[in-house]
Parts: sequence; structure tokens; C-alpha cells
Amino acid sequence: MEEIKIAEDEKTNRALNFIEDIIEEDIRNGVNEGRVHTRFPPEPNGYLHIGHAKSICLNFGLGNKYNGKTNLRFDDTNPVKEDVEYVESIMEDVKWLGFDWQDRLFYASDYFDQLYEYAIILIKKGKAYVCDMTAEEISETRGTPTRPGKESPFRIRSVEENLDLFSRMRAGEFPDGTRVLRANIDMTSPNMHMRDPVLYRILHAYHHRTENRWCIYPMYDFAHGQSDSIEHITHSICTLEFEVHRPLYDWFIREIGIYAPRQIEFARLNVTYTVMSKRKLLELVREGNVSGWDDPRMPTICGLRRRGYTPESIRNFADIIGVAKRDNIIDVSLLEFCIREDLNNRANRLMAVLDPVKVILDNYPEDLVEEMESVNNPEDESKGKRKVPFSKTVFIERDDFMEDPPNKFFRLSPGREVRLKAAYIIKCESVAKDPKTGKIEEIHCTYDPTTKSGMPESNRKVKGTLHWVSAKHAVAAEVRLYDRLFLKENPDENELGATYKDFLNPNSLNIVSALIEPAVKAAQILEKYQFERTGYFSVDKDSTTNMLVFNRVVPLKDSWSKVEKVK
Ligand code: ATP
Ligand code: MG
Repeated sequence: MEEIKIAEDEKTNRALNFIEDIIEEDIRNGVNEGRVHTRFPPEPNGYLHIGHAKSICLNFGLGNKYNGKTNLRFDDTNPVKEDVEYVESIMEDVKWLGFDWQDRLFYASDYFDQLYEYAIILIKKGKAYVCDMTAEEISETRGTPTRPGKESPFRIRSVEENLDLFSRMRAGEFPDGTRVLRANIDMTSPNMHMRDPVLYRILHAYHHRTENRWCIYPMYDFAHGQSDSIEHITHSICTLEFEVHRPLYDWFIREIGIYAPRQIEFARLNVTYTVMSKRKLLELVREGNVSGWDDPRMPTICGLRRRGYTPESIRNFADIIGVAKRDNIIDVSLLEFCIREDLNNRANRLMAVLDPVKVILDNYPEDLVEEMESVNNPEDESKGKRKVPFSKTVFIERDDFMEDPPNKFFRLSPGREVRLKAAYIIKCESVAKDPKTGKIEEIHCTYDPTTKSGMPESNRKVKGTLHWVSAKHAVAAEVRLYDRLFLKENPDENELGATYKDFLNPNSLNIVSALIEPAVKAAQILEKYQFERTGYFSVDKDSTTNMLVFNRVVPLKDSWSKVEKVK
């Protein structure tokens, strides 16, 4: 049998993705003298989300891999929706993800003069004209995918008249919406984007960079490809919805007669149980469904960061999901897998009780405090050990005790034994309840002094090991337990009349008051821990000197399957 050779990435041994195939072929063929130059081109009209993170990892990743360059370019052609707040957050997020644009930070608005000159070139070639139709008229005469459009009556204007009107548009002689500059292409093209698209519109609006210098602004399609060309981008990578724009992208470059980058499209990243459009995320923020762009339930990069995700886990996720040519939806549990794997190696362990019930060791000396030793991270010996104080009264999780347990329950119940982690084996003797509510208030136990962890005679085995905190030493903290923001796998897929907001999970945040072992006092904002047996947690910026606040990043295991979902 003939051996099939699949090109592989030298470092990771994974098969090359289709974009790498294209780039390597271009390098082999000496296209652009083998140069690779990509860009990440966000519009500063919102905060970045995990889908953008995929695009950032892809573009900067290719730049790094092929000894090339990657630009950060703000596509800031719509002054009405854009803001410096967004520009700053985007830069912060790209840096935090671990990428560096070095001295190549650009703005499409840097090219407004140049773009204007390009428009003049098109006018002079008879390839662009000033059209006086209203937006409604333009859209009515565009036709449909199956019906050709109608030519504008202004299409036959002379070059001189077009040059004159266009310069007067720029000079501010006309009110908003009264005229546009359109390309002269083909109103019968089966591709709607080729039916005399608008290049410039009149908009008397303040721009966060060019201020009041312009009152005409280029449309995205006219700005984007030309900006790529000006920056000598070799491979202009974008998402699939731009595939139908590619003929126009190429048309502008060809007609203007400038350097031609190559546009390549890949599938957008979608993730289950969330929405991924900036417009919808902005709506959630504005309508108060979340506390802000960085609410830890948001799929934004700043939300994930605040939740406790690490850049490494997100980069790894981007790598694992690969680059697809067809739209798909990735299970959020894959993202959760990536952060668990990273934090397992990175996060120190602590014992924290999220729903405490008191355990009194009746035979333990009244005032004795023992310093128990516990390993900080069993995956990483260099993290060392810490001391955990132990005393007569401890707290355990309420659900680690059952008065009348089923057979397979290996935690604490009357007459049974468990080990308290890093301490002793204890046995439940009796319980004390609130006479009114029947709620268990105290669990009385005895401890076996011969079973101290780490001591040679402590080999006696029991089935269950519980985490605990010493009552006298416990530090109270607020713990925010998050769940998925939506109950439906794809909230965007709606029956008539429903919107994604109908599927918001009303229980996506549950705040509890936890008790944590005293080593937690050293915790810094954004520091991550594994709370033994319950999950990974990150210190929230809302923490004060009096009260630590923790965000649950993920539970230790995928527990979502138990929750009732909307199909
Ligand atoms: P949204 O539709 O979420 O508002 P957008 O596409 O309008 O996003 P841009 O700021 O234009 O946002 O995007 C910057 C870059 O990120 C573009 O190249 C875009 O193709 C890419 N991108 C946006 N969303 C995704 C996604 N879900 N998956 C992969 N890449 C994405
Ligand atoms: Mg966009």
C-alpha cells in the first residue's frame, strides 16, 4: 500500500490545518518572497469574546510559527458605535492572552486620507459615482438574490461631476444621508455585494481619533481590504460570512491597482450555552442581566479572566478546537476541561467548606491545637507543604453527612468512620438537631488518636476522606458559584417569537458564605486555588481587607449533566 503523507506541525505533530497548508504552499512557491504577515482587525465597538480569542490565537500564532509578523489593527470606520474604552480593553485582552504586536498598532482611521485618494482613483476610472438616492431607495433597487437590481439614475454622471460632488461631500456641504459614493460594478451580479456597493456615506459625527476632521466615512468593505493592502498583509484571515465579500475585496484591490493580500475564511467559533455576538453581549450588560462586560458568566475575555481562566487554558482550547471550514458549535465542557487541566498543575490546594455543619470531637482535648501538614499541590512537589490547624470543633460540608444513608454512602453517618484529610479518623456517635426545624446543628464524634496522618501507625484505612476547617481558625469568605448563563445549548436557535434572553438561566449565580482554612489569608486578587473536593476558585476583585470574595472557575467534575435543561 502506498504511504499517504500528511504534512505535520514539527512541534506538536498535529496535522496542519487548511490555512497552514495554504501558507506553506505560498512559502514553497515564493509568493510574497515567502513572507507571512497577518493581522487581527477588531472593530472597537465592544469587548472581545472567546470567538475573538480564537482569531487572535490563530493570527498571532501563524505570525509566530512562520517567523512572520502580526498587526493589531482597529477597524474604526463607524464613529457612532465606537469608543476608546473598547480600544483599551481590546489591547489589554490581546496582551493578556500572551501576544505582542510590537510596534505594529494601526487604525483604519490612520488611512482615511489614503482611502479618500483610492476613491478618487476609482471615480477617475469611471468605477465609482456619487448617488443621490436615499438609503431606502438604494436598498429597494438592489433586487434580491434571484432578481437583478436596477441601475441608479446617477450612475451615468460624468467623472467631473462625481469628482466635484465627492469633494463637496468631504467639505461638509451636504447633510447626513443625502448622498453616497458607490462603486460602479454590476447591478445584475448574482452576488449582492457586487451590486454597486456603497463606499462612502456622509456622517457628521465625532470620531474618537480623527475627531471632527471627517464628515464622510468609508464603509467596512472599502476600508478593510485596502488597509490590509497598505500594511502588506499576506494572508488576511477572516470568518466565513466574508466569503461572499471576497470578490468585492479583490475587485477594489485590482481596480485601484495596489498590492493584493489573500483573503482566507474559516468558521466562527460558537460555544454551547452562550451567545457570541457583541450586540447581544452589550444588550445583556445594558439590561442588567449580568453585572458588566467582565461578569464572570460572560464569554468575554475579561469575563473569563475574572472568572479565573488563564491565558494558557484559552490558548490551549483554541489549539485543540482547530480551524474549521464549516460552522459548528463547540461544547463548553471542552473549555472547562482546558482550565481544569491547567489549574490542576498550577493551583495550590486549600480546604474550604461551602455549606458548613459543625462537628464536635467529644474526646479531643478542649484547648489543644495541632498543626497538621498538608501538601500544597500533589502534581508539583516544589509547591511544598503547609500547616493546617486542627482543634476540637471543625466544620465539614453538610452533604458529607447523612443520618440515614444508602449502602454506597462512604461519607459520615451514625456509627461510621471517615478520615478528616491530613488529620484523624473520626467516628460519628450522635447528632443534635434544632428541635423546631429538625435541622442538624451538631454532629458529635470521637477521634482515634492513633490515626494521625503521616504517623507510622496511621495506616488504618477507611472508605471516605472529608475536607474540613477548624472552627476557631476558619476564615469566612463570600463564594460565588456560577453556572451556565443559558439553559439552552444554542440560545440563538429560537422558535418564532422567542429570543435568546428567554433562555437565561435564573440560577446562574448562587452566593454562599464559606469557611476556609487560615492559609487563605495570603490570597491575592486573581490567585487561583483548588478547594479540595469542590472545584477551582479564583479571588475576585471585589475582595476587601475584611472579606475575601471567590469566583468558582469550574467544579472539579462536569456536573452540568445533572441539571435540567431546555431542549
Ligand atoms: P461579533 O459578530 O461577535 O460582534 P465581529 O465579527 O463583528 O464580532 P470584529 O471586531 O469585526 O467582530 O472581529 C474581529 C475579528 O475577529 C474578525 O477578523 C472576525 O472575523 C473575528 N471573529 C469575530 N467573532 C469570531 C468568532 N466567533 N470566531 C472566530 N473569529 C471571530
Ligand atoms: Mg465585524
